[in-house]
Amino acid sequence: MSEPTPAAEGLDDPDAAAFWRAAARGRLVYSQCTSCSAKWFPLRGVCSACGGDCAERESAGLGEVYTWSRVHRSGESGFSTQVPYVVAMIALDEGFRMMANVEPEGEVAIGRRCHLSFRPSPATGKPAPLFILDEA
Ligand SMILES: [Zn+2]
Repeated sequence: MSEPTPAAEGLDDPDAAAFWRAAARGRLVYSQCTSCSAKWFPLRGVCSACGGDCAERESAGLGEVYTWSRVHRSGESGFSTQVPYVVAMIALDEGFRMMANVEPEGEVAIGRRCHLSFRPSPATGKPAPLFILDEA
């Protein structure tokens, strides 16, 4: 495993650093505008819709597969031994979307309900979100 760079650790980005601090505690956080209530992921301090201030919110980690792709070849550090794996866009019930791995990869389908889990990232070894499909 290669040494993580400051960028990969989010140390040079306060919003990314807040995300990884929450992930280390098994929490998924997003931003919500205090003016217009728009929800954003990744975290941000200023609303992209109205310019208002955003506050950090915690997600319940429940959602569904919005779209997905199965990766058969990967040059990403740590991921080449994980193939095949699924990268999906998850629509969280709170009203934001995020990219994450989904398991079991052989059962993924658009619209399947899923829930948040965490496991060490193959790239950094630090807890990273992934989604587990609920029973069909
Ligand atoms: Zn706003």
